This record gives sequence, structure tokens and C-alpha cells, in this order.
Amino acid sequence: MRIREESCVGCGKCAKFCPMKAIKIEDHKAKVDPLKCVECYNCIREGCPVNALAKEELSWPRTLAESLSCPTGVDEKSGVSGRGTAEMKTNEVTGRIGHQKVGICLEMGRPFTGTTFIDVEKACMALAKHGAYFEPLNPVTYVMKDTTTGEIQEDVRPLFVLSAIVEALIDADKLEEVLKSCQKLSKEVDTVFSVGVSSLLKEDGTAYFDEAIEKMGLSMYAGGKTNVGLGRPLYDFDKER
Ligand code: SF4
Ligand code: SF4
Repeated sequence: MRIREESCVGCGKCAKFCPMKAIKIEDHKAKVDPLKCVECYNCIREGCPVNALAKEELSWPRTLAESLSCPTGVDEKSGVSGRGTAEMKTNEVTGRIGHQKVGICLEMGRPFTGTTFIDVEKACMALAKHGAYFEPLNPVTYVMKDTTTGEIQEDVRPLFVLSAIVEALIDADKLEEVLKSCQKLSKEVDTVFSVGVSSLLKEDGTAYFDEAIEKMGLSMYAGGKTNVGLGRPLYDFDKER
């Protein structure tokens, strides 16, 4: 994010709408802290009265910060906008999460908090220890050095983004130990994260995650944005049994 200082009148509007508090007004001019800016372009979308805000030509890995932080960006590989992942919302079409499996996603960072990939790596490594299979069409998976350990490429590790989603598939019988690792992780990262789980229903109507959640005494918000059907053929989960 760049400010054309010669045009800026120091009104402070952009600073008010920056979710990372990356803009300060000094000597009646807006200044961007490049270490805090995640290239979300909220400042531009809210509109500068004198058109003093401009996008910069970005190089890797800041282009990744832009695609993860800007809600209108589209991930090149997955074709999905925002953070570039469909998560579990389309499972009945893709069949990513089958029987005996639980889909897990760790949503790292939030506006005003953000996350570095150092913390994203900690989350990936915590899941990898339990044999997680990371979703190939997820930008966090693309930047792993090794998907069996969850290590992130060195050039990406210091990157600061608004948020990133770690998305993986685990064996349902490992969920309890995975959730315990997530509880431990919450004390080791310098950001906030939420954990989402999803699964098919068993014949008795319970989900594959119910037992572990109940045993650990966790409460959960039963929500989600599941796209049901959309007129496309449904995935045949029973063929896997
Ligand atoms: S909104 Fe525009 S004019 Fe106002 S402080 Fe920001 S860059 Fe300057
Ligand atoms: S691009 Fe986003 S993070 Fe950067 S200065 Fe603008 S609003 Fe703040």
C-alpha cells in the first residue's frame, strides 16, 4: 500500500478503516507501516477523498499476503476468492471428507490481530504430528516445504497476513488427540484462532466428531456455510464403504 504524500490532506479516513492499524497521521500526512500492512486494500475501498492511496507492484511473498488478506482477490490455483479455500462448504460435491474422517480447519488471525506464517507453521506442525492430510487446493498447503511435517518455506515464514486457514483431513479416531494439540497450540501462538470440524453423519445420526467433543467437555457452535447440491451431481460416499 502506498500513499501519494503530495496529494494526501491528512484527513485520517484511511487510518480509521485500516484493520491492522498500519496507517498513522504524522505532520498532516498518512504514513503506512510496511511491517503491519497486509495489502487488504480496505483503505482504498473506503475511498480517499483526494485519491492519494495506491496499490504497489508486489513481489513474492507479499503477493501471498494480498491474496490471503484482500476479500476480492482470487487464488490462482483454487480459483476461490478471499482466502482461497472452499473449506468443507462443498463436501457433498467434492467428497473430500468421507466416512471415518473428520475435516478440520484452523482459522488463524483476525482483523486487528493478524497472524504471521511462523504461527501458521506451528498450527500445521501440530496437525501434521497426527498424520493430517493437508488440502492440496489451499494456499497454506502450497507454501509448505514438506506436507508430512507442516514446515513452511523459509521466505514465507515471516509473512504477516490478516488471516489464513489451515485445512486438513484426519482420521476420526485421532480427533481427541488433535484437539488436545490445538489446546496446547493456543498457548504457543501470538494470535487467535478458531477450530472448525466437519464430518458426514453416521447411520445413527451422530457426527464422527461428536464423541470426542463430548468426552473433552467442549462446547461448539453448530454453524456453517454448506452449499447443498447446487444442482450438480452429488458425490457417492457409499461407494467408499
Ligand atoms: S484518506 Fe487520503 S487524504 Fe485522508 S489521510 Fe488517507 S491518504 Fe490522506
Ligand atoms: S492495505 Fe489494508 S492493511 Fe494496508 S494500509 Fe490499507 S487498510 Fe491497512
